[in-house]
Amino acid sequence: MAIVEPLSPTPDGHRRLRLRSTSNNEPIHEITVNTKEDVEAALARAREAQKEWAKVPVAERARIVRGAVDRLVEQREEVIQMLRDDCGKTRAEAIMIEVIAACDAINHWCACAERDLSDEVRKLHGFMRPLKKLVMHYRPLGVVGVITPWNGPFALAVNPTVQAVLAGNAVLLKPSEVAPRSGDWAARILHEAGVPQDVVQVLHGDGETGAALVRAGVQKISFTGSVATGRKIAAACAEQLIPCTLELGGKDAMIVCSDADLERAANGAVFNSMMNSGHVCMGVERIYVVESVADEFERLVEEISRKVRYGGADSDEVVEVGALYWDRQLPIIESHVADAKRKGAEIVVGGEAVNNGGWFYKPTYIRKVDHSMDIMRKETFGPIVSIMRVKDEDEAIRMANDSDYGLSGSVWTEDDDKGIEIAKQLETGSVHLNDASISYGVLEAPFGGMKESGLGQVNGKGALRGYTFQQPIIIDRWKRKTEQHWYPHTEKTAEELEQAVKYIYGTWLKKLWFMGK
Ligand code: NAD
Repeated sequence: MAIVEPLSPTPDGHRRLRLRSTSNNEPIHEITVNTKEDVEAALARAREAQKEWAKVPVAERARIVRGAVDRLVEQREEVIQMLRDDCGKTRAEAIMIEVIAACDAINHWCACAERDLSDEVRKLHGFMRPLKKLVMHYRPLGVVGVITPWNGPFALAVNPTVQAVLAGNAVLLKPSEVAPRSGDWAARILHEAGVPQDVVQVLHGDGETGAALVRAGVQKISFTGSVATGRKIAAACAEQLIPCTLELGGKDAMIVCSDADLERAANGAVFNSMMNSGHVCMGVERIYVVESVADEFERLVEEISRKVRYGGADSDEVVEVGALYWDRQLPIIESHVADAKRKGAEIVVGGEAVNNGGWFYKPTYIRKVDHSMDIMRKETFGPIVSIMRVKDEDEAIRMANDSDYGLSGSVWTEDDDKGIEIAKQLETGSVHLNDASISYGVLEAPFGGMKESGLGQVNGKGALRGYTFQQPIIIDRWKRKTEQHWYPHTEKTAEELEQAVKYIYGTWLKKLWFMGK
């Protein structure tokens, strides 16, 4: 990503920020920070545009939005280059984590839209069934604020924006100030596909713009970012009684069982710890390996870690790990490694920053870590494999759960049933067996964190409906002049109701209620 520096304000008083590449320190972009007034003006435009967009039939919305995949595929080279320049990502990472993820999300949600968002008649239960009909209407919320972080800046902007737009909302997208062009591209492919300009608008800026958006009067906030910001957003949304989803940080544990395929586990450990320069909310941040297989597992991890290459986006050489995406992440990584070293950890590979004109941290492998160290407790977000030995799987589960975070986790075992049993004991929003970091991309799976890792879930079956108000319309079947339980009541009214209780719930009839469920 980038180094963000203030510039002199514009003549009309807007703050400006300059971004320099973390790969080579070269200036790459400038943004003008949108003020509270800019946010309010954008909201007014969005409200008008949303009214018309909501009238577009769902199938037609899906057809239009689906065109964004074609626009992205056509212009992928520009998007990949932008991601490499802005973030320092390797080419493979830009394609894998951003372009493929974005194409896949757009395709998937467009395919689900008609099924999940069209009006639906629902069968009623018990005695209600002969009396009433239920039509479910999935009503757009209005204008949704989408606020995104810097580590997966394109895919994490595309996914919620597309869902909200398909559901008939307008979106005000506030990308991270560290990766603003990803937000522009997310909007651009949708506009080029035919989504009206004011249905998706991008607001640029830092926390000031984000806070203004949260308070502007939108109907929902979809936030992805840090725990600290998430708390502020939750408080602001609570005061306004508007819903939010918070996708926050993680400290995901990987458990290597005594029967794991150690080669796969070691390859997986290194990849999932270092991918995206370690800047993955559900990347592997701590590893617990059972003592009986620890020697061999650590040997393999060392061998693989030593071969991992790093380098900048402007080089043609193939490397696995790019630059750090944000200069401010470096002191956090350095302090966690220093703290681990001071408390007795062994740095086997790497363990230092490289200052060769850019911002890099060497691919690193650390062993003998424990829970007294920041590296096992706080989000490090660096290309670091941290391994702790445990006696057995039970101890691994205890250690994995000894965390303020609960985003995701992984269990590595040859025995799926055993893995599932361990998974059920982990206090995390999702669990992988013999893989890690992919649950956000498994779009059918609800995604969200337990504990401090978030509030609410995104993706999964309820995803598109999460951007609607689910409005039941209850229709009387018979349209009689009056109902038995309406006024006037007589001596018989209560008696008849009591008879109903007796027969409906106190005889064999009660069994009928369970039929067809
Ligand atoms: P951040 O919280 O600093 O910023 C995220 C966004 O919020 C940015 O756009 C920022 O400008 C904006 N913002 C800052 N202050 C704000 C305020 N007071 N009100 C409204 N908006 C405000 O997070 P970051 O450093 O950009 O992102 C990294 C964090 O995101 C890590 O903790 C990572 O784990 C987490 N993350 C979580 C997920 C997930 O799905 N759970 C995915 C990616 C990243």
